[in-house]
Amino acid sequence: MRIIDLRSDTVTKPTEAMREAMARAEVGDDVYGEDPTVNRLQEMVAGLLGKKAALFVPSGTMANQLAIRSHAQPGQEVIAETKAHIVRYEQGAAGALAGVQLHWVAGDRGIMQPEQVEAAIRPKDPHSIQTALICLENTHNAGGGTIYPLSTIERIRAVASAHGVPMHLDGARLFNAVAATTLPPAAYAQHFETVSVCLSKGLGAPAGSLLLTNDPAMMDRARRFRRMYGGAMRQAGILAAAGIYALEHHVGRLKDDHENAKRLARKLQQIPAISINPQHVDTNIVIFDVVGNRLSASAIVAALKQEGVLINAIGVTSFRAVTHLDVSTKQIDVAVEAFARVLR
Ligand SMILES: *Cc1c(COP(=O)(O)O)cnc(C)c1O
Repeated sequence: MRIIDLRSDTVTKPTEAMREAMARAEVGDDVYGEDPTVNRLQEMVAGLLGKKAALFVPSGTMANQLAIRSHAQPGQEVIAETKAHIVRYEQGAAGALAGVQLHWVAGDRGIMQPEQVEAAIRPKDPHSIQTALICLENTHNAGGGTIYPLSTIERIRAVASAHGVPMHLDGARLFNAVAATTLPPAAYAQHFETVSVCLSKGLGAPAGSLLLTNDPAMMDRARRFRRMYGGAMRQAGILAAAGIYALEHHVGRLKDDHENAKRLARKLQQIPAISINPQHVDTNIVIFDVVGNRLSASAIVAALKQEGVLINAIGVTSFRAVTHLDVSTKQIDVAVEAFARVLR
């Protein structure tokens, strides 16, 4: 039985062609700034996002945490959406490593409104904790792969500028937003002092993320904290080559993942036990609920596994399925048949 793994777009394996690119990569010691492939990747992504500089790091978590550490002083506050990756899935690193307090703002499917962000910015009085940074996530993972409307970003930017607070974008899946809207990545990136992007999600590289900024002093701090956090690698060109390959070959095809996600959502809607709004599927993430079924969420996950389909339970009745380059349209249809059998 061929497993259909819809747990995450991180489960993809490097293609033969990607492995060849990795094997052929020219390398050097990146702590000395001498890895030509890392340098090429950094220049390429900086160019794509319209930023002056990019820093290659092992993971998206590290990119986000370098941004927080470089923007904020211990004892300050960082605004982030309640379900943000920075809040939920980074092991409390903002508190543990940067010494900052996170101020949660509950968005609608992960999207905060400018009025909410403005209300969360602390007054500059001597009693109040000080707001150091505002973080947005595009697309929003736990929100359901939601695309941040550019107009909302522009209005949040105006609020941030009025209060003198910088902004960071967790763009782990920025290229999914780009594929869905056909906006250039720089159209989003221009509104943020720092941006992180992942190569290891839908782009299909085995590892690697980048942190981007226009500010040389910010880049210098981030580079030093990368070293502090243990993320300064040596012949990292082997990994960077996979990232270059992914950017050259796997960005355009993200649209296929979005089509597959919509197909999955439309077909799941036909199953009586499933509650889902296919209109809420913006990109490659499908979140749905199973209502009134005698099986618990973990029992449903286990029963699907028996059928060769892997998904994640993300709540008492909610589930997440993610499409990616190792799942075909045919496999989506096979997966839906398994759902129908399990939830009959
Ligand atoms: C995956 C992800 C990250 C980074 O995850 P790593 O596993 O550390 O690479 C950051 N933000 C979002 C929204 C993500 O989905």
